[in-house]
Amino acid sequence: MKILLLSPHTDDVELGAGGMVVKLLEQKHEFKWVVFSICEDAVPPRMPKNTLKKEFLKSCNLLGIKDYKIFNFKNKLFQEDRQKILDNLVIIKNEFKPDLVICPSFSDIHQDHRIIAEECFRCFKKDAAILGYEFPWNCRNFSGNYFSKLEKRHLEKKMEILKCYDSQIKLERNYFSKEFIFGLAKVRGVQCNSEYAEAFEVIRWMD
Ligand SMILES: [Zn+2]
Repeated sequence: MKILLLSPHTDDVELGAGGMVVKLLEQKHEFKWVVFSICEDAVPPRMPKNTLKKEFLKSCNLLGIKDYKIFNFKNKLFQEDRQKILDNLVIIKNEFKPDLVICPSFSDIHQDHRIIAEECFRCFKKDAAILGYEFPWNCRNFSGNYFSKLEKRHLEKKMEILKCYDSQIKLERNYFSKEFIFGLAKVRGVQCNSEYAEAFEVIRWMD
């Protein structure tokens, strides 16, 4: 299966779908990873502007994903570039031809996440299955109706890739904590009779 990962900002796929990505990598699928912003304005003071890009590359390398593309659309201003974003997605669709696309949930209220979810749907609605990942702090009505059952090793690896984002850990983002990552995975696991899981919203499903 060909799987396309869409990260509006560098750490989004790791946070929302890191465990499932680790599991799917074990199954030897083909991956392409696209990041839309390296958020030069969101690094802590005195850190180089390309810090998040470097951290993403570290995470990518740790996972062993070699096919990636990094854009630098303006953080929080994707609205201004939404047609360019769609045009680029169409190019990626025609070149890579994914079977499954993993993007933010439609219920995510972050302005950039929402645009990536919407443009992803416009681009892939007839061509690929689409799953939306969960950011509990951004989602008002997340409807988790697809569960990826996970084992402890998948989450341990997820923690390892999140640790690549030193700049975000320095900012003490509470959703980077082990308690949160394992806690949410435990809740989602209880819903599908598994030790751990990640939940996704089915935006499109086809096989
Ligand atoms: Zn984001």
